[in-house]
Amino acid sequence: MENFTEAQNISQDHSSFFFSSRGGLFCQDGWLSSKLIGDSFLWTWLILSFVSFVICMTLSGVLFYLYYWPSNITYEKWQRKSNPKYPSPEKVRDEIVQMCKAFLCSNVCPAVSIYSAAHQGNDGSSDTSGFHITTKAYCGPAPSPWYHVAEFIGIMLVSDFFEFFYHYCGHTFKSLWSQHRHHHKFFNPSPFSVIADEFVDQFVRDSPLLLFPLLVPINMDLMFFEFGTFFYFYGVYLHWGYEMDWPDAHHPILNTSFQHYCHHAKGVIGKPTHCGFFFKIWDQLFRCTYEGKCFCAKCERRKGNRTKEQFELVHIPDYSKLLRPSFWIQAKVLTGTTSKDSNDDTTDGENNDAVKRKGE
Ligand SMILES: [Zn+2]
Ligand SMILES: [Zn+2]
Ligand SMILES: [Zn+2]
Repeated sequence: MENFTEAQNISQDHSSFFFSSRGGLFCQDGWLSSKLIGDSFLWTWLILSFVSFVICMTLSGVLFYLYYWPSNITYEKWQRKSNPKYPSPEKVRDEIVQMCKAFLCSNVCPAVSIYSAAHQGNDGSSDTSGFHITTKAYCGPAPSPWYHVAEFIGIMLVSDFFEFFYHYCGHTFKSLWSQHRHHHKFFNPSPFSVIADEFVDQFVRDSPLLLFPLLVPINMDLMFFEFGTFFYFYGVYLHWGYEMDWPDAHHPILNTSFQHYCHHAKGVIGKPTHCGFFFKIWDQLFRCTYEGKCFCAKCERRKGNRTKEQFELVHIPDYSKLLRPSFWIQAKVLTGTTSKDSNDDTTDGENNDAVKRKGE
C-alpha cells in the first residue's frame, strides 16, 4: 500500500511531465505531435503495426539472408546450426504467413496504451474525447534517475516472468495449447518464426505494454524501447536456428538459441521444456528444463556429428523460390500449413508434418 501511494505521488508530483514534456518519442513534441499517433486509435494501431512489421521483416530477413541463403551457407556456419537440416522453402513461407497474421493482434494493447496515455491532460486528468483508459504513463525525466533504473529492471524481470508463465500455461492447459501449438509447427525454426503465433497468443504476449502503465508510473519511451529490444531483437536471436560460441547452451543464467530450439523441437502439450525467454531461472524453478543428453551444436561437434563429410550430404533448399510471386499464389498458402518437413526429434504428430500426414 505504501509503495502504491509513493507511486501515485511520483505521477502526481510530476504531472507536468505528462505528455507535454520534451525529449521523448512519445512526448507531445515527439511522435505524438504528428497528430496521428495518439490522437486516433485506428491510426496508432495501423502505424505501430506497419513499423513493427518493417522492423521484424528487416531483422529476420537480414539474418535469414546471412545464414540460410545458399550462397552464404558455409561449413563453419553449419557447424553451429542447432538442427543439421534446413527447413523447406514451404516451411519458411508458413512462418512468414503466420508472422504476418500475428502483427494484426500484437499491436492492439500497445495502441490502447499510447492512445490512452495521449488522452491524459497535463495535470494527470483525462480529456473526455474518445474512449480511453486512465493510465500512469508519463514522458520525460523521473524525479530521480534511479527511478528509471528501477523501471528498467522491473520491466525486464516482470515481463520475462510474465512471458515465461503464459508460455508455460500454453504447454499445460489444453485450451491454451490449441492456440500455442501453431508456434510449434516450426520445430526447426528460422528467424521468421519469431512471432509466428496465433492471434490470442500474440495479443497476450504484448499486453504488458498496456498493463504496466495501468499499475505503476511508467516512462513510455523506456518501456517501448526496452520491450522492443527485449522481445524483437532477443526473440529473433532465439529463433535464429544457429548457436554462438558464447553465450553457449551451457550458460548458467541466460536462455540461448539452443534452449529455444530444444523447446520448439521437443515441447508439446503436457511437456513444457524451456519455456523461458531471457533468464533460465523460471524454467529451473518450475522444473521444466530439458534433462536428456545435450544435443547443442557444441556437444554435437564434440561427438563428431558436424564433420565436413556430413556437411557435404546436407540438402540446401532453393530459397530463391520465396522471391517468386507464383510461389505465394497457391492454394492453402494463407493457412500457414503447407509444408511436409519431418521432425527427427519427436514422433508426436502435433509437432511433425510427416507423422501428422501419415495419420490423416
Ligand atoms: Zn512453446
Ligand atoms: Zn519460439
Ligand atoms: Zn551442450
